[in-house]
Order: sequence, then C-alpha cells, then structure tokens
Amino acid sequence: MFIKVRITPGTISGRDLVKKLVEVCPVDIFAEDEGDLLIVEENQDECTLCNLCIEAAPEGAVQIIKLYED
Ligand code: SF4
Repeated sequence: MFIKVRITPGTISGRDLVKKLVEVCPVDIFAEDEGDLLIVEENQDECTLCNLCIEAAPEGAVQIIKLYED
C-alpha cells in the first residue's frame, strides 16, 4: 500500500457530489453506497495522482497521501 486516499469526515454530502467523485476517478477508487461515498481500499494503489478528485471536491475534502518518498 503506497497511496492512501482520505476523505475528511462531513465534507462530502449530496448525491451529486458523491456521483461526481465516483465518475471522475479513472481507476474507480470511489464508490457510492446509498448516497454515501466509499473508498475502494484495494484500488488505492492504482491512483495516478491526477488530482481530478481534489478539483471536484470542496477544498480539503479529499486528501491523497503518499506513503513513500519520491
Ligand atoms: S487523484 Fe485521480 S486517480 Fe487518484 S483518487 Fe483522485 S481521481 Fe482517482
């Protein structure tokens, strides 16, 4: 596990925003369950660091944490 995707609790609400995040990620790291946003744990390492999720979400809501040094 080299990448951790973290959602700041309480920052993602509303079906439109959840849907947008599910759609924007090219490697399916986000999923929706009854209106809630889920992180698909096993897909996190596929993250391409494209930042599309960060741009789609309110500031500070999504964090992509690199668990390694460059
Ligand atoms: S940075 Fe890109 S690949 Fe990584 S979780 Fe966000 S949208 Fe998905």
